Amino acid sequence: MTRLIIKGGTVVDPVAGKLFQADVTVVGDRIAHIGKAPADKDATVVDARGCLVLPGLIDMHVHLREPGYEYKETIATGAAAALRGGFAAVCAMPNTRPVCDSAAVVGFVLERGKAAGRARVYPVGALTRGSEGKELAPLGEMRAAGAVAFSDDGRWVRNGNLMRRAMEYAAMLGAPVISHCEDPDLSAGGVMHEGVTASVLGLRGMPAAAEEVAVARDIILAALTGCHLHIAHVSTAGAVRLIREAKARGVKVTAEVTPHHFTLTDEAVKGYNTNAKVNPPLRTPADVAALKEGLADGTIDVIATDHAPHAREEKEVEFDAAPFGMVGLETAVGLTMALVREGVLTLPQLAAKLTTNPARILGFEGGLLREGAPADITLIDPELEETVEPECFASKSGNTPFAGWRLKGLPVGVVVGGRWFAVRPRVATGRRTRDKK
Ligand SMILES: [Zn+2]
Ligand SMILES: [Zn+2]
Repeated sequence: MTRLIIKGGTVVDPVAGKLFQADVTVVGDRIAHIGKAPADKDATVVDARGCLVLPGLIDMHVHLREPGYEYKETIATGAAAALRGGFAAVCAMPNTRPVCDSAAVVGFVLERGKAAGRARVYPVGALTRGSEGKELAPLGEMRAAGAVAFSDDGRWVRNGNLMRRAMEYAAMLGAPVISHCEDPDLSAGGVMHEGVTASVLGLRGMPAAAEEVAVARDIILAALTGCHLHIAHVSTAGAVRLIREAKARGVKVTAEVTPHHFTLTDEAVKGYNTNAKVNPPLRTPADVAALKEGLADGTIDVIATDHAPHAREEKEVEFDAAPFGMVGLETAVGLTMALVREGVLTLPQLAAKLTTNPARILGFEGGLLREGAPADITLIDPELEETVEPECFASKSGNTPFAGWRLKGLPVGVVVGGRWFAVRPRVATGRRTRDKK
């Protein structure tokens, strides 16, 4: 069996909440030993000095666009972008064409993910047929085929009774329901956050209430059904408050935020920058502060990217006509490491939000560095800096508002099932080099 030694790094343990120096020895596809590795001249050795060694990062919310929109992204390019972003696993949302609402499409996504041989790709099944919100999708069939969660992401299930049935069914199947909380009547016609900036720009706004009304209903249904509700891309202070209060009451609810929502405000839209057009929209400084507070106090469990690739031509149109969404896989770690330097998160908390918590929510075996656990590992160099250049992305698309930003703290390698992928060059002397030009 192949042996791999990650040597001399700083292991980040999200459970014990501490850091320690250790070698990590991988045999086959499992972690065999954590501690000083014995001399082994046949093993592949990765010099991890100066690096943080985390359980393999998991992004539980990405859009890979295949089947149907391969010109934006394919499962293979998305899985490569995931690796370059430091992720060992991603969960693909079902809004493809056809929608992932059957065992056949679930099987297709799994198969394409395996064939790509990069980050692991897990399918999320649709809650309703065609995500049309009219009748339930065959959740049991999809679960048996390998769906890890259910969601009509992009479209809130407007019919409360249908959502109730879906949650009851998902609870029986032991799978979480991921909700894109947006009351479409309240947000109708909106293209950015409703507020001063929208008024100045003359753009139609989406009020924070559109999100909060939906969060409140879904929390009430989670309490009714006992279903595990996971709230996608929380963006408002009011939503954070509702989730915090529901958790205190013992409702089974978890939540995620994206790096763009905790980094940017609606002012990023100034100049009609379509790369900052995203749904839910970028909000106010007070919302950003509330998201950070929610991350720090544990109200927000997960950081996920909502990676949403779009072709250049689609974004190079007037603001109203441009599609919502931005890519996120390849900037997520750099943007999240800024929270550690700011003192919002500790490194073990960062590891919890990017790997342990998503693993727990999805029922994955990963998310922990333990002897016997699957060998999914991410190496981050906290000092490595890079300027974001969308032309260098492994993703097919480059729709990011972070182009030209200088990010610090970047992934240098990922182990997936015992297989090592170097994602940024480091030379043996420990001198850092820049990413490929
Ligand atoms: Zn969404
Ligand atoms: Zn999404």
